[in-house]
Amino acid sequence: MWVSYIKRIATALVAIVALISVIAVLLWRDRPSLDAIDWPAPSIASAMNPDAVTVTWLGVTTLLFDDSETQILIDGFFSRPTLTEIVFDLPVDNNAAQINYAMNEFRMRRLAAIIPVHSHFDHAMDIGEIANRSSASILGSESTAEIARGAGVPEDQITVVEGSTSFQFGNFRVTLRPGSHAPIAWGGSVPFDGIIEEALALPQPVSAWRMGGSYTIIIEHPQGTALVQGSASYKKYDLRNVAADVVFLGVGALDSLGRDYAELYWQHTVTATGSHSVYPIHFDDLTKPFGEIALSPRVVDNFEKTAGWLLQFRNRWDNDASLFIPEFGKPIAIFSQPASEP
Ligand SMILES: [Zn+2]
Repeated sequence: MWVSYIKRIATALVAIVALISVIAVLLWRDRPSLDAIDWPAPSIASAMNPDAVTVTWLGVTTLLFDDSETQILIDGFFSRPTLTEIVFDLPVDNNAAQINYAMNEFRMRRLAAIIPVHSHFDHAMDIGEIANRSSASILGSESTAEIARGAGVPEDQITVVEGSTSFQFGNFRVTLRPGSHAPIAWGGSVPFDGIIEEALALPQPVSAWRMGGSYTIIIEHPQGTALVQGSASYKKYDLRNVAADVVFLGVGALDSLGRDYAELYWQHTVTATGSHSVYPIHFDDLTKPFGEIALSPRVVDNFEKTAGWLLQFRNRWDNDASLFIPEFGKPIAIFSQPASEP
């Protein structure tokens, strides 16, 4: 009798685990398609105007600014830990081959600065290795500096930023303004919050890359001004005296914060700066290999819903602004976009 009882319980447990697995797989596969968002693609830089400032989006919020003299890299995330490594918080390391490939393919030969928006792995994982392959300075928080030190970057290539500070690199003037991180973890908290307290030697689990301090980055150039907001967070009225032509708007998990939050985020970031072009970033699945762009599962981050909201906010608050979806690896002439619908 006991044997048949245990057998029945075991069978039921197996069935439950199988059912949960099937549901998890189905939810993971339920993703909107980027094709469903019919915003125009931005115009790609042309040989006609070789001196135009371009920005090349390299997934998540990694952005390469280039004016043909000087390059500025926002973030550096080419090694892509797998979903399993992230979920189970397994130790991960830089992928040297991937970093070499990315730096070569996108011609990062004039890098002056590497500036992560904050110190989470999906922004700052490779900054040290990129600095070691260039003469670029790393700018950011004390935590960002510890990532660089862990990779053996010399101290004279590391700048810890305190308060709101500006730096000149060629014709680019870059300002880091202390900001905040989207409250997207349990109970409105910040995921992997806190600071990195010592040199971060790899391998480490992804949870070791603590947030460390978040920045709104303003990049001024004689051709125009761009603002990079990597995380979907805002401080009310903080940017009211900042004018920007272009905003790179971090939208990671914005749908989970609700429409009202998203609208305030738009107003205090896009409307406040009077931007004419808005590029969402951080909308892609960061567990995919470098270069493979897919939207996240709806259950994790529903960008289709977010995109619908952004269009409504644009129509309501900033009717003369254009929304563009950046294309991976294609240099966009950000200050010479034609006004277009939507
Ligand atoms: Zn983050």
